Amino acid sequence: MTSVTTCRDLVELLPAAQTACRLLFQECFKVGIKNIFITETYRSLERQNYLYAQGRTRPGLIVTWTLASNHKSRLAWDIAVGPPQSLYDVTTLNRVGAIARKLGITWGGDWVGSIDRPHFEVKTSWKCQQAI
Ligand SMILES: [Zn+2]
Repeated sequence: MTSVTTCRDLVELLPAAQTACRLLFQECFKVGIKNIFITETYRSLERQNYLYAQGRTRPGLIVTWTLASNHKSRLAWDIAVGPPQSLYDVTTLNRVGAIARKLGITWGGDWVGSIDRPHFEVKTSWKCQQAI
């Protein structure tokens, strides 16, 4: 495995992010959102640079807006939606985003300018709080 391949391993994140991510999935499950899955967690510096180059110095569509991603800090994860919905089904991601907000998790769908619906992150100080 090279340093630019995708990592989907939850244990590669910091403990706060692992707990937040598990809680988010639990809460989604409770309301019937059972077809979401993790597409990426930790990103090495090499991978972030590699992704940043896509659409800039490498062919392809731009996939990241920053070199300072919280994926590098082991505090962010991306999700996608399984069938029957499409991979980045906006309705589902908006529902997950609303749940994340209640849990104190930062959702990329709330970002102005560089909206990133599949993206979620926490700070190292994140603490589990009762939602819903
Ligand atoms: Zn992300």
